[in-house]
Amino acid sequence: MATRTPLIAGNWKLHKDCAESVAFASELKAAIPADIDVDVMVAPTFTALHPVCEVVKGSPIAVGAQDMFWEAKGAWTGEISAEMIKSCGCTHVIIGHSERRQFFGETDDTVNAKLKAALAAGLVPVVCIGETDEERQAGKTFEVLETQVKNGFQGMAASELTTVVLAYEPVWAIGTGNTATPEMVQEVHAFLRKLVADSLQKELANGMRILYGGSVKSGNIAELMALEDVDGALVGGASLETESFSGIVRYK
Ligand code: PGA
Repeated sequence: MATRTPLIAGNWKLHKDCAESVAFASELKAAIPADIDVDVMVAPTFTALHPVCEVVKGSPIAVGAQDMFWEAKGAWTGEISAEMIKSCGCTHVIIGHSERRQFFGETDDTVNAKLKAALAAGLVPVVCIGETDEERQAGKTFEVLETQVKNGFQGMAASELTTVVLAYEPVWAIGTGNTATPEMVQEVHAFLRKLVADSLQKELANGMRILYGGSVKSGNIAELMALEDVDGALVGGASLETESFSGIVRYK
């Protein structure tokens, strides 16, 4: 049985300008014990990546981008490559967040292209998947997740995917206060691990961190982390304040 180091990640979304991000990052640095035994990552906006990386240097806090583009360079006005993110000091990148899929036309194909580019640049990709309320009501949850995983990982071998983190974020639970029940979360996470084992490799599946996201807060994190196949959380709203995020990080 592989040991999986939990990862608690904060997605700041479209919040906090440069100065606010820097101030918040230094508060978090002071609040999170230097010897914490979980991995911690924050994802500020693009414009705050470099200054936040500078602030958290020497602390257990890693920094990731909320998105990226798959090409390395060229005539792609407005885009940001994996290498550029890395050059800011980032180690992680979130790919395929449901808000990107919903509002910016991301598909499993763009997720796949971004995933390949992120891995080529040496970033740890946090690949987001999740069903909508409509899909769950229609009994399509597992079908939707299977398609997202298989197409997202298309054309890649198990040996290339060892650093990949999966984040299960039911769309209906994001920013709504409606956390999925522990039973639902464990059922999906076990399904995802088996899917990775069956379609790719058992060893990869055993080592892969599968995070839960969707209305995670300090009051429900311990219950979620107690589930066998939950290896961390991707936190939105509750990652924006020092007390709530450091409370989630110190869930034990
Ligand atoms: P939430 O967002 O914690 O505010 O529900 C989670 C996410 O979108 O990653």
